[in-house]
Amino acid sequence: MYGAGDIVAVLVGVAVEGPYSYRVPDGMTVSRGSIVAVPLGPRLIQGVVWGPPKDMVAHNRLRDIAHVYQTQPLSEELLRLIEWVARYTLAAPGQVLRGVLRSPEALDAPKPVTAFRRTGHEPEKLTPARLRVLDTLMDDQAWPKAALVGATGVSFSVIEGLERAGALERIEMAPPPVVLPPDPEANPAQLSDGQRAALGNILSLDAGEFGVALLDGVTGGGKTEVFFEAVADTLRAGRQALVLLPEIALTNTFIDRFTKRFDARPAEWHSDMTPLQRSKVWRGVLDGTVRAVVGARSALFLPFRELGLLVLDEEHDGAYKQAEGFTYHARDMAIVRAQFSKARVVLSSATPSVESRNNANQGRYAHVKLESRFAEAAMPDITAIDMRMDGPEKGEWIAPSLAREVFGALDRGEQALLFLNRRGYAPLTLCRSCGHQYQCPDCSAWMVEHRFRGVLMCHHCGHEVRTPKTCKECGDTQSLVAVGPGIERVAEEAAARFPNARRVLVSTDMGSHAQLRERFAEIERGEYDLIIGTQLVSKGHHFEKLSVVGVLDADLGLAHGDPRAAERTFQILTQVAGRAGRASKHGKAFLQTYHPDHPVMRAMVNGDREAFYAQELLAREAGGMPPFGRLAALIVSANEQKSAMDYAKLLLSAAPMAEGVRLFGPADAPINMIRGRHRVRLLAQSGRDFDLSGYMRFWLSSAERARGDLKVQIDIDPMSFM
Ligand code: ADP
Ligand code: ZN
Repeated sequence: MYGAGDIVAVLVGVAVEGPYSYRVPDGMTVSRGSIVAVPLGPRLIQGVVWGPPKDMVAHNRLRDIAHVYQTQPLSEELLRLIEWVARYTLAAPGQVLRGVLRSPEALDAPKPVTAFRRTGHEPEKLTPARLRVLDTLMDDQAWPKAALVGATGVSFSVIEGLERAGALERIEMAPPPVVLPPDPEANPAQLSDGQRAALGNILSLDAGEFGVALLDGVTGGGKTEVFFEAVADTLRAGRQALVLLPEIALTNTFIDRFTKRFDARPAEWHSDMTPLQRSKVWRGVLDGTVRAVVGARSALFLPFRELGLLVLDEEHDGAYKQAEGFTYHARDMAIVRAQFSKARVVLSSATPSVESRNNANQGRYAHVKLESRFAEAAMPDITAIDMRMDGPEKGEWIAPSLAREVFGALDRGEQALLFLNRRGYAPLTLCRSCGHQYQCPDCSAWMVEHRFRGVLMCHHCGHEVRTPKTCKECGDTQSLVAVGPGIERVAEEAAARFPNARRVLVSTDMGSHAQLRERFAEIERGEYDLIIGTQLVSKGHHFEKLSVVGVLDADLGLAHGDPRAAERTFQILTQVAGRAGRASKHGKAFLQTYHPDHPVMRAMVNGDREAFYAQELLAREAGGMPPFGRLAALIVSANEQKSAMDYAKLLLSAAPMAEGVRLFGPADAPINMIRGRHRVRLLAQSGRDFDLSGYMRFWLSSAERARGDLKVQIDIDPMSFM
């Protein structure tokens, strides 16, 4: 506790170095974690009391803390997490704090709301509307105004009339909680033997201690039901639970399932919410009225004070990596947070990341397996279609054997899915006369044709032009051709081949989040026969009637010179194939590939995921790649290629010598220009036990600072080498 006249360090929520000192004014007490407003230059800024000041400061130059918010202080775990994340990612602690704090409205005491209750006095005149209000207020309970109007459907003047007649009494009450508390006993599933064993393994991690379980089970294996019971166990123990989902904005189904299981909606946390909704959830998490949150990766930084469980569903998903601002991976940060909070972690996936598999192999995580599908559902049969021999006709993308299978599914009244992980109509537009290829003026990338919207678009910066009719180089009016398929082109071919099927095209270009959610609901209700989609359809959905899945270009992700190309391809193929046959229908998946002998394709066809993980781990170990080594990337960007390259060379020459650190580059980044900025990359690689973050911090602090239009982006544990 600090009182009047004490000097304290306050971390302010802006990207500046370290905490600043302030004086506690008369009549104020604060403690470590208190949320305050302090003057910084001409502005008032939110901050958090960090502790005693670091340096001696002259009293007469100190400014007073302006305001302390009436909330609980942030927990010690959260403060330590902020520090840890800042150190690890090389962000300023204040920048991390800014992501944690909310607007002032969320922090001041919540405003009371107007409510009404019955007095027992009968009014002389009773209309049907008045009766509805009085019936609703039978049981002594006070109802907030908005809730009363909502429940009775009367206009507010009816309520005011009853108040004037003495039948109702107006009071002020605390605002209702943002969500009702989930009930752990509400509707538990009858777990299968396998599920019960898996749950037992998770719960055998000591409650009240840190521990991680990798819930490794086939798609449709009933993992969700298992971790719901872990959530219930946490709630019973009086602790809070957090479930992270990679694409929460797109999944109504998950929220619905949670609501059914616990008889209450979970609090949500994602980018589609209004600032007011977010503030309410934030506040509820801090004051403990919110017991369970389902959210996107940034929910990791919510101010839980009693966090007992973190679940990462689809833990392998790339969406868990935050690539803007300070770059972090939600899986790693979840582990760190759980260590500070002494919480359990459940990492759930049908295709765990190679990192998590390795941790399980090494015994750092409990390896909890669910080997068969729930009930009678069987795993899909997977067949490779060798495009060198059985490929489609020129100008078509669906092989004849796949088309036959689709017809079969349609005839049986089942659903089929055609999958291609590429948005738009065609990835390249080319002039057959002069050879001109349409490229983004600001990025080293082709312009992708989006025929549905009539534009060519750059997928890196969003630059758009109307689709040209004449070549801008030679002026030929007949010579422009679309090269290669995007999902819209597949939809066009599907319309020609399967004209009687009810078809739906699903990609991020086809509407808002709300519209996409509606499409998924329609698919689940069986309102379509043929689904044509990008990776959006590969994640988490449960389409009961879906029995045939065709992957039009299974090799697509393998071309990247990326350390995780094979892993990502294996994951996306397994996930999309796993959409087939989730209910009683027997599922089949077909992979169109030019490389049927590639280890990824072989593992898929043989259903041998263990072979894939074993081989991938060997390859990673041989190359000193994660999880056996560490990587950190520096991307230097500038308006001119030469100044980016010159500065990168300067950085390299300033790199401290350290045993076991290897440096690569500078070299042009694989996408060497984005938004008109040239990008040059330096890469550092070290062994697993080396503090590569610390090395990078030391390196950058001793190098000459980037000036002018130069910018340096730091990516610890980069997922790709873009
Ligand atoms: P996963 O998360 O492993 O992909 P889910 O938990 O979504 O699998 O389960 C697949 C399907 O099986 C869902 O429709 C789910 O409701 C159902 N299911 C799983 N376990 C049970 C259970 N114990 N009782 C009833 N239905 C279950
Ligand atoms: Zn561009």
